[in-house]
Amino acid sequence: MEPLACPICGAASEPLDVVDVSKSCVEPSGTYLPLSGTPVYYYRCDTCGHCHAPEFLGWSPEDFRRRVYNEDYIRVDPDYVEKRPAVAAAGLHQTFGHVASSLRHLDYGSGSGVLSRMLRESGWNSDAYDPYASPDVSFESLGRYELVTAYEIFEHVADPHRLMADIAGLLREDGVLILSTLLSDGAIAPRQRLTWWYASPRNGHISLFSKKSLTALATRHGFNLGGFSPALHVMWKTVPAWASDFLRTG
Ligand SMILES: [Zn+2]
Repeated sequence: MEPLACPICGAASEPLDVVDVSKSCVEPSGTYLPLSGTPVYYYRCDTCGHCHAPEFLGWSPEDFRRRVYNEDYIRVDPDYVEKRPAVAAAGLHQTFGHVASSLRHLDYGSGSGVLSRMLRESGWNSDAYDPYASPDVSFESLGRYELVTAYEIFEHVADPHRLMADIAGLLREDGVLILSTLLSDGAIAPRQRLTWWYASPRNGHISLFSKKSLTALATRHGFNLGGFSPALHVMWKTVPAWASDFLRTG
């Protein structure tokens, strides 16, 4: 198999391994879905460590709706409906609750908008946007925000530069992006089988970031990158007064 161009840095991305499209994040709990017979190859970039699954580049939104984000999706991601938004809302309110009334917040990739609803109940000025759930809403109608969140979004997109450009267009120049995606450092290595639980096509995890590839993505779009854990990250260009303490400790 020939190398492909890395979707992040453009260097050569080599074939790493192949898994069935039914491989899901709940396998460590002993839940294995029946094999589908559709192979998904993951490629790894030696330069930035980014992994991607080119199989999905040809999928339309309708393909994703039918084969990934369908009525069975909850079986492989049981936390996405209530638990994950509740944890995120609590964390955001604890950190920014004291300035929330003066911020415009957008939850990008919001699904049905649970996080924004929870924040609004706590006095936030929060909007929800999801390219799948609300495809008719245009960016132009949204405007620009002080704070954008994107929880478990970056690993789902085939074109991360397009995603970053879209989000950058929704942020004020001194806006802050908080995102979650689990970094692959220590979990993926060349010439080793891809057994990492997060590398799961059935969950729509088709872009697996390393610290280096997420940094490269941020830098390419003019952002700084900070991190709080292997899963929670923050990007910004200019530090706004309302987030100065947060970004200093981040
Ligand atoms: Zn790369």
